[in-house]
Amino acid sequence: MAIRSEDFKKPNGSTDWDAYTKAKVAAGEVCSSCGEYIVSGAYPKGPRTCGSCQQLIMCKDSVQHDHFIRCPKCGDYWDPMAEEDDVFSDGQHAVCCNKCDHEFEVTTTVTYTFESPDLEKNDAEDEDEHGDGGGPDQGGA
Ligand SMILES: [Zn+2]
Ligand SMILES: [Zn+2]
Repeated sequence: MAIRSEDFKKPNGSTDWDAYTKAKVAAGEVCSSCGEYIVSGAYPKGPRTCGSCQQLIMCKDSVQHDHFIRCPKCGDYWDPMAEEDDVFSDGQHAVCCNKCDHEFEVTTTVTYTFESPDLEKNDAEDEDEHGDGGGPDQGGA
């Protein structure tokens, strides 16, 4: 059963996002560590972490994660959002572990997503082929 935000309305009409998020984590809908949606209904219900977060804990090789940086020395991982602004640009960045002070490099790969607008409707069946919509627009005059 999906957790719906409508079920977390406060008396004043706004949504209690905190409780909503907690409920989703408790139901295993989102990762309890990074908050990513977990796409699978096959697991038993209950808090769980996504595949990427499990990799951070289990994998001894280098790992990729959309949110967290992992210290290669102590294994601690964290969300760099707050302190390390430049890790969000493409390339290698020196990072210092907050826990054990180990310095290491992370490689950032920035991905881009292009959102294109809706297809424009071809209305009036090719009528504008005849070009009777006024003369060419020459700015200036
Ligand atoms: Zn996760
Ligand atoms: Zn560390």
